[in-house]
Amino acid sequence: MNKPEETAKTDDTAPPETGHFLQQWISDDVASGKTGGLVVTRFPPEPNGYLHIGHAKAICLDFGMAAHFGGECHLRLDDTNPSKESDEYAENIKEDIHWLGFDWGEHFYSAADMFDTMYEIAEKLIMSGRAYVCRLSQEEWKSYRGVPTSPGKESPTRNTPPEENLDLFRRMRAGEFADGEMCLRAKIDMASPNIHFRDPVLYRIIHTEHYHTGKKWCIYPMYDFAHPIEDALEGVTHSMCTLEFEVHRPLYDWVIDRMDEIGMLRVRNGVKIRPAQREFSRLNLTHTVMSKRKLLELVEKKFVSGWDDPRMPTICAMRRRGYPAAAIRKFCESVGVTKFKSNTDFSLLEDAVRAELNKTAQRRLGVFDPVRLIIDNYPVDKTEYFDAVNNPEDDSGGMRKVPFSKVLLVERADFMKDPPRKFYRLAVGREVRLRYACLFTCTHIVENENGELLEIHGTMDPQSGGGTSPDGRVVKGTIHWVSERHAVKLPVRQYERLFSAEDPLADETRDFKEFLNPGSCVETFVYAEPEAAKTLPGEPIQFERMGYFCPDSKDSLPGAPVFNRTVTLRDSWTKKQAAG
Ligand code: ATP
Ligand code: MG
Repeated sequence: MNKPEETAKTDDTAPPETGHFLQQWISDDVASGKTGGLVVTRFPPEPNGYLHIGHAKAICLDFGMAAHFGGECHLRLDDTNPSKESDEYAENIKEDIHWLGFDWGEHFYSAADMFDTMYEIAEKLIMSGRAYVCRLSQEEWKSYRGVPTSPGKESPTRNTPPEENLDLFRRMRAGEFADGEMCLRAKIDMASPNIHFRDPVLYRIIHTEHYHTGKKWCIYPMYDFAHPIEDALEGVTHSMCTLEFEVHRPLYDWVIDRMDEIGMLRVRNGVKIRPAQREFSRLNLTHTVMSKRKLLELVEKKFVSGWDDPRMPTICAMRRRGYPAAAIRKFCESVGVTKFKSNTDFSLLEDAVRAELNKTAQRRLGVFDPVRLIIDNYPVDKTEYFDAVNNPEDDSGGMRKVPFSKVLLVERADFMKDPPRKFYRLAVGREVRLRYACLFTCTHIVENENGELLEIHGTMDPQSGGGTSPDGRVVKGTIHWVSERHAVKLPVRQYERLFSAEDPLADETRDFKEFLNPGSCVETFVYAEPEAAKTLPGEPIQFERMGYFCPDSKDSLPGAPVFNRTVTLRDSWTKKQAAG
């Protein structure tokens, strides 16, 4: 997918050898000495939810660019809106970034720590006649602001003297007024074609305790005012954000100019740091939603078991499901950084997960839909142990022993009564390889009165130990098995896409929750070789031929994993959709 819906401006698409357009932008600044050679970026999440795969893209970009240029990347909690923020979110954000493989070192900041300075700047703006207290209601404010094609209307208090505004602003801070009764606005240009420039709100009254500053404040700065101040105070040189902020950039620059006027820009390496903002397109994924508000709704209304439900697009859910951090990083790199609006196919993320797990995951044998296979020429009480390769892609992965006995379990789908010629698995009269063990020829089957398969019978070739062909005869089919007597039965959750619709938000007349996939979690069991019971959360394995699975970090007990399917071996979803 990834099809461009908008044509990028030509200067946004840098040739590959210079990296993407943001890398080019930073590189030019470094070369011109504009920032004294410094590259300082930041990742600024609001602690009002868990991080998702879209954030991962921003994290890889922010931390990645800093690392590339030998600079620093700050983690800053953009906690300027007290109503939805919490320490739980803040702590999980840190955990997720670390897990993804990035570190901010000593550069941890929080907007709330800068509230005093922001307030001070606001008072200075008032005194220089660049901000005023406005008493318009929110509806009035909106209608006065107008539409881009014609000038807006000035607030009645726009030209009141600074002393009056300062007094009101201080009383706002002191808690004399109710939420929404008044606000502080910048005095910029009510006729600007950019409506974000029409005297934007800088501070609003919110009588809500903040998770860190408690009751200290009842007025809180708006994002557009706070963000450039945070960047400037931290000495950030390159501030990268998603495209919706592009129209806010003139305001960002306006705030930076005001800070410059009052001498509040930082000097580093002998150069005054003037933070600059650039925008890239956000990552969207098919079959999921990425808005924190909508994800929260799924959690609160219990459509999923929590933010870390393995079907969620959050980092913690992906970790729980068994996605390796390296796969997420590679995926973020592969989707690139552009200004194209696009919807990336979920299968691309799964491909990255498969590619990584193929290299790292240990292989185990497990049967999901078992039928008994009885080796008639094998002693009842004998157990043999065959050597099995842990990972054919990794020479250092070693071997393990797999128990083998007279009665095995194999997949029901590996037998056919009337097989087509090209079916190389089990059928009466045909020979297959039992992975790592021996060659086996099916002689007959036992069915019940309804024609359901109960037992597959046959004989093994005693010369074929380990599954090698004794006389070089060709045996095309290889199937997996477990010894019935030794098998451990373990719970498995087979996950599918969370939403069956490619874009659950496409139809605005319908609730996105209508498009939830009712089959997104099917609970089954696997009958596995004993070694599989030792698998730990965070260590996905491959059940050969069946997919990658990872023990759930919440529901597993020592020696008794509950497996989450991380990803199938092949892209079965897309195939299924194509088949209708
Ligand atoms: P909300 O959904 O609450 O509006 P948000 O998803 O923008 O918020 P923030 O915590 O403000 O969440 O995001 C932190 C950073 O991550 C921002 O710089 C934002 O631009 C970036 N970001 C958020 N979503 C995506 C996405 N889908 N793709 C790339 N970057 C993203
Ligand atoms: Mg945001």
